[in-house]
Amino acid sequence: MPDVPAVPKRVATRHPLRNIRAFRSALLRWFDESGTDYPWRRTTDPYAILVSEVMLQQTTIGAVIRNRRFERFLEKFPDLRSLAEAPESALLRTWEGLGYYNRVRNLQETARVILKDHDGEFPADPSGLESLPGIGRYTAGAVASFAFDYPAPIVEANISRVLSRLFDYREPVDAPAGRNQLWNWAEALLPTRHARTFNSAFMELGQSYCSPRSPNCLQCPVQDFCATRNPDTLPLKKTRRATVEIDEHVLFVRKRGGPVLLAREEGSRRKGLWKLPERSHDQLADFPLLATRRYDITHHKVTMHIYRCPPSRIPPPAGTPTEQFHCSTSLQELPMPSPFRRALTDLL
Ligand code: SF4
Repeated sequence: MPDVPAVPKRVATRHPLRNIRAFRSALLRWFDESGTDYPWRRTTDPYAILVSEVMLQQTTIGAVIRNRRFERFLEKFPDLRSLAEAPESALLRTWEGLGYYNRVRNLQETARVILKDHDGEFPADPSGLESLPGIGRYTAGAVASFAFDYPAPIVEANISRVLSRLFDYREPVDAPAGRNQLWNWAEALLPTRHARTFNSAFMELGQSYCSPRSPNCLQCPVQDFCATRNPDTLPLKKTRRATVEIDEHVLFVRKRGGPVLLAREEGSRRKGLWKLPERSHDQLADFPLLATRRYDITHHKVTMHIYRCPPSRIPPPAGTPTEQFHCSTSLQELPMPSPFRRALTDLL
C-alpha cells in the first residue's frame, strides 16, 4: 500500500504581535466555546488557586482530577488557618502519592506567613506574592491572574511550548535567554483585561491542540498566527541529565504476623515519611529475597530489593535513624512514599 503523504502544516499568514487583537480574539473565542471546566476554574479564592497550582507543578491534571486530589485536600484543609495548624504527619499523609513533599511543606509555610505578616489576606499583585516563601514568578502570576484577574503573564510547560512554536523559536527555552524571551512574549500578548481567561486559554491550548507530540495544527484555533513548520521539533531544550540506575535494599521485619518495622526518613526530600528500613546489600545478602520493585524518582530509576528478616536478626543501621514497629492501624495513618505503600500493601 503506498504511503499516505502527511498533510503539510499551513504557513502563518499573520504575526501574533502585529495582529494582536485578532490573535487574542481567536484564542478567547475558542476557549469560550470549548474551555474545560476544571474545579479550580470555578473559584477565585486565592487559597484554593494556590493549592491547585502547587499540586499541579509536578503532577498531571489527569492524576489530580481522577483521584479528586484537589477537592480532597480542600476538604481536609479548607483555609489558610487549617493548613497552617496541621500536624506534619496529617499534611504528608494527605499529600501521599503526589510526591515532591517539599511542595506541601512550602505551602504550609506560605499559609503561616500570610496569617502572621499579612493579616490572613493574600497580596493581589505578583511582586507581593513573590515575596512569600516558595512562590516563584509562575505561581505569583497564576494566583494574581486567576484569583484577582490581575494582568500578570504566566509561562509554564504548556505556554512555553505554544510560544516556541508560534514564534518558531530555535533556542533552548530552559536557558536564561530563552526563558526571558518567552516571558517577554507572554507579557506582550496578554491583554490588560480578562487576564484570568486569557491565561487559562493559553495553557489549555498547550494541553489540547498544541500537545508535545502530534499537535493538531489543522484544527488549532490560532494556526493562522503560528510560524513553525515543524512543531514536533519544538521547544528546544538543553541536554537532559542522564538517568541513573540505583538499588535500594530494604528489610521486611514483622512480629508474629503483627506489627511491621518502619524507619522515619530524616534530612531528605522525604523527611517525615515512613518506609521499610534500609541497609547495605552486604548486610542483607544472607536473607531471603521476598520481592523486587521498580520505580522512578526525578532522574533516578530505582530497584527496590525487599528481604525477609526475623526480628531477632535485624542488622544494625548506619547512623541513628528512628525505627519502630507499627501495627496495621497506624500503618494506615502514617505518611509513606507511594512505592513503599504499594509494596507493603502487597506484602501484608
Ligand atoms: S497546534 Fe500547531 S498551529 Fe497551533 S500553536 Fe501549536 S504548532 Fe502552532
